[in-house]
Order: sequence, then structure tokens, then C-alpha cells
Amino acid sequence: MCRSINKGVSLQIGCSLISNFLFSIHGNTMASNVPIIKLNSGYDFPAIGYGTFGGPHAPEQVYHGTKHALEAGYRHIDTAYVYETEEAVGKAVRESGIDRKDIFITTKLFQTFHEPKHVRPAFDISLKLLGVEYVDLYLMHWPFAWEFHGYSFDDIKGHKDENGHRKRIDVSIVDTYRAMEELVKAGVVKSIGVSNFTIPMLEQILKECDIPPAVNQVEIHPSLPQEELLAWCKEHNIVLTAYSPLGNPGHRGQPAMMDHPAVLSAAKKYNVSPVQVLLNWGVSRGYTVIPKSVTPERIKANLARIEMDKDDIEAIASIGREHPHRICDPIKIFGPAFNIFD
Ligand code: NAP
Repeated sequence: MCRSINKGVSLQIGCSLISNFLFSIHGNTMASNVPIIKLNSGYDFPAIGYGTFGGPHAPEQVYHGTKHALEAGYRHIDTAYVYETEEAVGKAVRESGIDRKDIFITTKLFQTFHEPKHVRPAFDISLKLLGVEYVDLYLMHWPFAWEFHGYSFDDIKGHKDENGHRKRIDVSIVDTYRAMEELVKAGVVKSIGVSNFTIPMLEQILKECDIPPAVNQVEIHPSLPQEELLAWCKEHNIVLTAYSPLGNPGHRGQPAMMDHPAVLSAAKKYNVSPVQVLLNWGVSRGYTVIPKSVTPERIKANLARIEMDKDDIEAIASIGREHPHRICDPIKIFGPAFNIFD
């Protein structure tokens, strides 16, 4: 069974949906007015973070982007081994001159490293690339395992079958998570969590592991409002992080969520941009958002904080309620064996 979970102060922030959520959000002592969410591990988690997933030019762009982000006031950076941006993030963090303890760094365990014997070596590579002594949050990137072919970036790419799909191997999420718990015990990770997990998967971890996940990072935006998962996680004191909070505009012909009438109407009402509405919709619902941008003006603008009324939050949540749309669909990306969300 899980050890007892810290219960934060319950607080209502613009939405009755989260009034019984067991987290505390309090004034920020850091450089910006970004709210802080208290994790079940006891650590502070800034509600707006900087996402660092990109294309072939990502490392260079992310290095400059992270520098801009830290200057603008971000104190939460999200990366992953597979993004190949850990080194760029670490360099920007070191050069910022900001105390390491004031920056929350998340990174993630790749699917080829799920066998327990590979977890610590894979983590140590991330730590070395980041050039830090500990990671604030280490997430299991996806809830399935792939064959191990080595630790280098080249080793983790390729190895697909004749249909271009990945081969799944039989390693349970519990065994991988237990190996991640050892990182907390060793003092090299402050909090552990998961990503792309469903409620049954979270239930299994809570039942069979010792340290409850602090965070579940999943896709959330108005076309995929994740209302059931959000309510369940609040009830169990697990904080959600919304990836692709803007719906990754422009990527693979995604519908532009910022053009939806409910978003435009809120933007007019609060005198902010549609993107600022999308991000504040997430923060107002009680979770963290990690928009990615390599454009300095956008990086800065994405930090703006407004309080949104319950009716506006509800109007935007209803956009994808009936016909949710997932951008990061593992079936399309990895193959039919990865139908984990149905
Ligand atoms: P996103 O943040 O929803 O969208 C990124 C796109 O929005 C970029 O093209 C960016 O353009 C544009 N953008 C950012 N700010 C904008 C603004 N103010 N106005 C107009 N356009 C703006 O999508 P994402 O990158 O997929 O998700 C964010 C982060 O989540 C990732 O970077 C990664 O850290 C994480 N993630 C995690 C997972 C997972 O499986 N755990 C999966 C996907 C993503 P420019 O860069 O050109 O400014």
C-alpha cells in the first residue's frame, strides 16, 4: 500500500470543480507571479512550466529558449531523454546564475529502459546530460516497455518491425516504477511520477508501490479536457501536468483551438490573447501547463496569469467533451499494440 499522502490546503481558484482538491497554491517567492502547486511529496511545483520537445533543431533552439524562459521568470522546465534537449536545458540553467534549488526540472525515462536493471543507468545519463546533482521530478514517459538496444540516442531510435511499429516487451509498470522509487531513496530524485497513465494504471501503482506518483503528465487542451481523469487525480492528490496545452498548433494539421468562439470570447472578456486563455484555463482548473515556444515574445506572454470565472472555464471544457480529439495518439505514433487509452 502507498505510504500516507501529504494533504495540502484546500483552495478554490475560480472553479468549484477543484474546491475539494487537496493541494495548496500560494504566493510565489520566485521571479514571477506563477502559482505554486504543492505536490504530495511535499515539494513546490510551479503551475506554468517551459516545454522543450522539438524537432531536429531542438537542442540549439531549446538552449536559447530556456535562457529566455528563465529570464522571463519560468522556474519549471520540462524535458525528457528522448527529446535530446537535456544537455541544452542544463547549460541554460547553469548559465542563468539562478540557484539550482529555485528551478524545478522534470525529465523522463524512455520506454527502452523499463527493465529495472536499466532504470538507474538511464537516469544517470540524464543526470549527466543535465549536469545537475538531482532531478526534481522523474516521470515514466509512457506506460509500456520496448526492447532495450543500448543507451545512446542512436540506440533508442529505429528497431521497428516491417510495418514501422515498435515491439512491446513484457515488463510491468509496477516493476519499472519500483526501480524509480530507488532513485528517491538514493536522494537523486525528489519526486517521481508517470506520464500518459490512465486511471486503472494509476490505481495499480497506488496499490502495489510505496511512493504515490506526485504527477501524471498527460495531453490536455479544450479538445481533450480529461475531466474524469482530472477529478480522479484531485481526489487522490496526484497533480496533472498538461502537455500540448495549446493543442500543438500547426503540428500535423491540428485544429486551432485558439480560434474557437468560447476561447475568443474569453480572450475579449479578460483582454488577453487566446493562447493566454488556453493556459490560464488549465491553471484555473488546478493543474500545471507546460507550453513550448522557441519565440522570446511568446515565451514571455505565456507566463501571464489571470483568474477565470467558472462559466468561462466550463464553456471551454465543453469544447471537446462530446468528441474528444487526441493529438499524441500512441496508436498512430507507435502502432496498434499501443491502444492504451480506449
Ligand atoms: P504546445 O505547447 O501545445 O504547442 C507548441 C506550439 O505552440 C509551438 O509550435 C509554438 O510555436 C506554439 N506557441 C507557443 N506559444 C505560442 C503563442 N503564445 N502564440 C502562438 N503560438 C504559440 O505543444 P507541445 O510542444 O506538444 O507540448 C508542450 C510540451 O509538453 C512539450 O514541449 C514537452 O515538454 C511536453 N510533451 C510531453 C509529452 C509526453 O508524452 N509526456 C508529449 C508531448 C509533449 P513556437 O515554438 O514557434 O513559438
